[in-house]
This record gives sequence, structure tokens and C-alpha cells, in this order.
Amino acid sequence: MKRVYNFSAGPSMLPLPVLEKAQQELPNYNDSGMSVMEMSHRSGLFTDIITQAEQLLRDLMNIPDNYKVIFMQGGASQQFAMVPMNLLTKSGKADFVNTGSWSKKAIKEAEKFGQVRVIASSEDENFTYIPKIDRSMIDPEADYVHITTNNTIEGTTFRDIPDTGDVPLVVDMSSNILSEQMDISKFGLIYAGAQKNIGPAGLTVVIIREDLIGQATETCPTMLDYKTHSESGSLHNTPPTFSIYMAKLVFEWLKELGGLKGMEEINQEKARILYEYIDESDFYLSPVKEDSRSIMNIPFVIPDRDLDGLFVRQAQARGLETLKGHRSVGGMRASIYNAMPLEGVQELINFMKEFRSEHK
Ligand SMILES: *Cc1c(COP(=O)(O)O)cnc(C)c1O
Repeated sequence: MKRVYNFSAGPSMLPLPVLEKAQQELPNYNDSGMSVMEMSHRSGLFTDIITQAEQLLRDLMNIPDNYKVIFMQGGASQQFAMVPMNLLTKSGKADFVNTGSWSKKAIKEAEKFGQVRVIASSEDENFTYIPKIDRSMIDPEADYVHITTNNTIEGTTFRDIPDTGDVPLVVDMSSNILSEQMDISKFGLIYAGAQKNIGPAGLTVVIIREDLIGQATETCPTMLDYKTHSESGSLHNTPPTFSIYMAKLVFEWLKELGGLKGMEEINQEKARILYEYIDESDFYLSPVKEDSRSIMNIPFVIPDRDLDGLFVRQAQARGLETLKGHRSVGGMRASIYNAMPLEGVQELINFMKEFRSEHK
């Protein structure tokens, strides 16, 4: 069977053991005579799946009891609107940090619902660093502060989570959820589209502190109110059942690997060897400031831009897929999420060395 190392920013690779388990269980799940896709979301078998998925996620991320886990649809992009519809309801003011394309989209959407203030931005240097945030910058009356913990396109990450005091911190964690251990009590609300580190597209995970539920405006549509989903255990209407099942398999895979502690060690190692090679190569360059570098999305450039196309084509011929950089950054981008094995990164480095020796 031919499998490639897929460096796509999302949807991205899934662990092979997860795909094989799903394949094996596909036509006849647990002797039910049907696949999970054909099963009622109210059935006992599916209830077990969604309950276990939530419990596994709680264990992996060490989610405190006063937080609810919601499985829903609409992607991270829907959260750009849902967060203000539910939380921008007291003072009507929110503070945002602008660290890239996804932050900008979240800001633009929130502006439809209230007064948005950008308290820090790295746009002045093409989003190649993470600005420093301290408490004095935050409006104590703000309903929340919003950051993008990992900037998928620009390849930056918040190494330190800002202390926002009593103002809830809302984070878009789409591209680094489950990549390392984190203290969940620092956050008021976490949201993430599944297609990077959780499972197939179609599922969105929301982790919300209980006191932030039930603050939506009167006119908030039922489906866009966190209360609807938390009170019904994510079963108000038909949830993305197969994606939840796949996420459960991914969570089991992570648990076997040693949880987020084990995963974090592997992720650190993958990123370390790639950055190390880029920095010592005298050919490739990382556009990102060292203290802001992401361990999930690693953009790099070759000073001679004319070589980009050739690099991407030759890499693909070697089974190293989807390395073309985002149009706003150019060059290449290697997304090395949880499911990318260390060997995939080693293969990439081997190819980069060969390519360098031919074109240097
Ligand atoms: C991929 C991504 C999004 C968009 O997610 P959708 O689920 O496609 O809406 C938003 N924010 C970040 C940080 C992302 O990486």
C-alpha cells in the first residue's frame, strides 16, 4: 500500500492505525451489522462512542470539571461569530490580538457584534513574531480577550499564554490543540476545527468554562447558543457522528502513545531537527523570529524564489506531499501535526539536503 508523507496544513494526515481500525470496523461496527455512519445518534452504541470520546479528551487535556466539552459543526470559522454572539453581551467590548490571517478573520466577524479593540499586532512585520501581552494592555471591562494560539499560515505560536486576569481568555486552538500539555484553567473558552489535530473535517470542538454559558443575547439562534449544545450533551440535533467516532480513535491512539506528554516530546523533536537543519543549511531560511516559532507549521523559503516550484514538484515525486507555502508567505510550509511521524520529517530533511547540493 502506498502512503505518502502529507505536509498539508489541513485537512492533514491521520494516524495509519486509526485509519486501519476504522476500515476494519467500517461495515459492521461492534457486531451491530451496520457502520457508525448508518447508526442513530440516539442509539446506545453511539451514546457510548460520544461519551468515551469526551472522557478521553478530558483525560488527555486534563480538562477541569467546571468546563463543558461540546462537539459541534460549522468549523472554527463559525466560532468567529458564535463567540461574540454568546460572550460580547455585557460591556459589548472585546480585546483582540492580531497575529495573522485567522486572527484577522475573527476580528472582522466580531466587529459585527460589538466594539472590538486590537491591543497588539505583528502585522508591521508581516506576522513573523508574537507580540508581548501584559495585563496593563487589557481593558478590565472587556467581555473577553481573543488570541490565536498557533498561526497556521504564518508559523508562529504563543510560547507563553498571556495572563488576562479576570477577563476570560478565548483562544482559537485549531492548529495546535493536543500538540502539547497545557493548563486549561488559563482559558475561558477554547475552540478548534478538527481537521488538523483531532480527526476528519466536519467536527468542531469547543471547551468552555461553565460560567460563560447562558450569556447569549435573546436573538441568538438556538443552534448558535452554547447553552443548547452543552445542555443536550452535543445531541440537540444530529452531530457529525462519523467524525466524532474518528476523533475517538485518534484520542485512543494518543493515549497509547503516552498522552500529551508523550506527544509533546515527539513534536518537539520533529520541530527541533527541522529548524536545526534550516538554520544551519546556509540555503533555506525561516521567516519566523526564533522565540515565536511554531512546532506545528514550519514555513521556510529559498532566497531564489524561482526554485520553489521545482522543490515542491521534486518533493512530491518522492512522496513528500503538499509542501507549497501559503500564498501570503510564499516559499514552502511543512505542517507537521501529531500524525506526521518523525521519519516523515527525517525524509523531508534528506530531500532538502539533496536539493540544496544540486542548487546551491
Ligand atoms: C484552519 C483554521 C481555521 C479555519 O477552520 P475551519 O474549520 O475551516 O473554519 C481557523 N483558525 C485556525 C487557526 C486554523 O488553523
